[in-house]
Order: sequence, then structure tokens, then C-alpha cells
Amino acid sequence: MKYLYILLFLTLTTFTAMAQLPQPDRYATPQGELLVTHIGHASLLLQLNGQNIYVDPYGEVADFSGFPEAGLVLITHEHYDHLDKKELAKIVTPKTKIISTPLVATELKGVEVLKNGGKTTWNAIEIAAVPAYNIVQKRPDGAPFHPEGNGNGYILNIGGFRVYIAGDTELIPEMKTIVSPDIAFLPKNLPYTMSDEQFIEAAKQIQPKILYPYHYFEVDKAALSKALQGIEVK
Ligand code: ZN
Ligand code: ZN
Repeated sequence: MKYLYILLFLTLTTFTAMAQLPQPDRYATPQGELLVTHIGHASLLLQLNGQNIYVDPYGEVADFSGFPEAGLVLITHEHYDHLDKKELAKIVTPKTKIISTPLVATELKGVEVLKNGGKTTWNAIEIAAVPAYNIVQKRPDGAPFHPEGNGNGYILNIGGFRVYIAGDTELIPEMKTIVSPDIAFLPKNLPYTMSDEQFIEAAKQIQPKILYPYHYFEVDKAALSKALQGIEVK
């Protein structure tokens, strides 16, 4: 009987792990339908024409066993909640392309490095690495949690449909160049990224059509929607 319970437990946990991917949001782009899943924290899955693009897969939010194989992985920076080698091993294949920062490339094999300002193309998707850093928020020793030049945000351009993934950043001057993307993922938590006020200011400035708050501990969607009239908050 004991073994039956163990078997049942194993079956249930396997099923739960497989079933963790939430239903994606769907968007029409000039290159086909884009499926967007916010898995949790800073982990995202974007799917286009059967190709799977992961951002910062992190084991604290899901067990990636059984998730679709990665065609492309974008890693924003080396912090443990963004660079999780154990979860990467579950979705990366020999064909997977991994794009990240110079520092991540010292810790992970086979990474194509993009510095801030760097650009590349993958499967007709233009990928630009943009700055992500702290101005206000610092560690007790005075160093910013995210020093300028270290981490990447990414802008994906899918035939003119643009997705901005901000990474761990505050409202920084470089965001002025990011004008009305179709989708934006902006982080909202202190002390590592943006306060509620900074988040709202950043969203008002960037003016995405669709806004996903991410990398948050808690979020008041109604309050954000009220403060951000004209922007659809997910
Ligand atoms: Zn970080
Ligand atoms: Zn983080």
C-alpha cells in the first residue's frame, strides 16, 4: 500500500510539473501569431511559428522539465534569479542559441555575447540589447544592485512588432529611445528595480500598447490600470 501511495505521489507531482505552463496571451505580428507566457518572476516564454524563446528561466517559479525545448534563450544578467543553470539544462539542446552578457558568458558555455547596444538576428527576429541598471537603489556598501553596463534588457523586433523586456532596471534615461513598443515587460520591486512611482513614470514615458509588470512581489493591477489610462495592463 505504501508503494501505491508513493507511486500516486510521483504521478501527481510529474503531472503538476508538466501542467505548470499557464495559458499564453496571443498577439498577431507580421511574422505570425506570437504566444506570450509570463511563467513567473522574470521568466518568460515567447512562441512564434513553433519556435520557443525563453527569457531568464528560473526554477523558483516552475520546474522546466517537460517544457518545450528552447530555440533561443535570452539571459539578462548573472543574478541567481535570472541565470539558473539547473533549469537551463532542462530546456537547452545542442541547437539552442543563448544570448547574454559578457559576465554570464564567463559562467556559461556557448553564449553569444551582446553588450548594451549590441544587435543580432535570429530566425528573422531582430534582437537588440539595451541598458538595464540602477541609479537610486544601492547596496549598503554604495554599489548599485545592477551597475551600469552589466545587465541587458532586450528589444525583439518581429517584422515591426516590438517587444521590450526591460531586465532588472530602474527608470533610466536610455528608456527615452524606446517609443511605444507593442509589448513591454517592466520590473517592479524594491530595492532591486523600480518603485511603484518609478514604474508608473516609466510606463507613461514608454507608452507600450500592452504592459506586463514582472519581477514583482505584489502588484495592484487595478491601481496600475487607473494610473496608466490607455495602456492595457496584464
Ligand atoms: Zn538582478
Ligand atoms: Zn532579479
